[in-house]
Amino acid sequence: MRALYFDGKELQYREDLPKPQLIPNHSVIQVKYAAMCSTDKGIIHGYKAGFKGILGHEFVGTVIESDDEQLIGKNVVAEINEGCGDCYYCNNNLEKHCPDRQTIGIINHDGCFAEYLVTANHLIHIIPDNLALEKAVYTEPLSAALEITNSIHIKPSDKIAVIGDGRLSYMIAQIINLTGADLTVLGKHSEKLALFSAFARTQMETEESYDIVIEATGSPSGIKKALSLVRSRGTLIVKSTYAEQVPIDLSYLVVNEIRLFGTRCGPFLPALKMLEQNLIDLPDIVYYDLKDYKKAFNDSRFKVGFKL
Ligand SMILES: [Zn+2]
Ligand SMILES: [Zn+2]
Repeated sequence: MRALYFDGKELQYREDLPKPQLIPNHSVIQVKYAAMCSTDKGIIHGYKAGFKGILGHEFVGTVIESDDEQLIGKNVVAEINEGCGDCYYCNNNLEKHCPDRQTIGIINHDGCFAEYLVTANHLIHIIPDNLALEKAVYTEPLSAALEITNSIHIKPSDKIAVIGDGRLSYMIAQIINLTGADLTVLGKHSEKLALFSAFARTQMETEESYDIVIEATGSPSGIKKALSLVRSRGTLIVKSTYAEQVPIDLSYLVVNEIRLFGTRCGPFLPALKMLEQNLIDLPDIVYYDLKDYKKAFNDSRFKVGFKL
């Protein structure tokens, strides 16, 4: 089959890879659309060491083989972390923290920049009929943004700042906006910030302090900025992963009684529901053929992917 394979050094377009085999409690999915994100770029640029295999973790597809008959022929999305099934985390509904987990296209599991992939049945969600497949590709990244409100109580009376004007911030800001909270988005690019103006106050600088600051820039300077904006007794939510280690003054957190909160992957069903109900505005994804992966990886538009 055709796929984008990362050999540990570089990404290759290949046509000679075997179609994956069905294994018990799993399904074979024919990929229809897949999208890329900064995690994929991080892997090929060596920020995340150790992954070899087919890249990609954001996708929609059709189940073509499964030992769960109800899934066959259905259009689906799938959560990306598959745990061992029998450890503290797996037994407490925290599979994404299983120390032996496989993660599609990231840890020990072939990804979705391919014609087919195999995934565990319990991680699969059927896409509602009235949600376009091209839009449902946003389920995985939107679920990651939703993990903020899934983890921490955000009050409508909170004053909140989101740092960053990229894709992740765009989703987070809309989710926060739906809570009714007072929302400011801080960024460095006026043309990107303009996208946010329909639902948030946008600024390049601020002198104010906030109850909750959400860092989603992915850059160490973003976290320093975020820390300087949190009120005493406030909360700093860290949503990015960083390519390098970030020094922070922990005493500052102690003295000012600031809570530091990390969140990662989130719930798929609420993400599908929000997409289905058009609660989140998202630009159309620009799709390429797998063969044109170099062009795709250099395309800086909002969201880029592959149509299979
Ligand atoms: Zn991603
Ligand atoms: Zn486990």
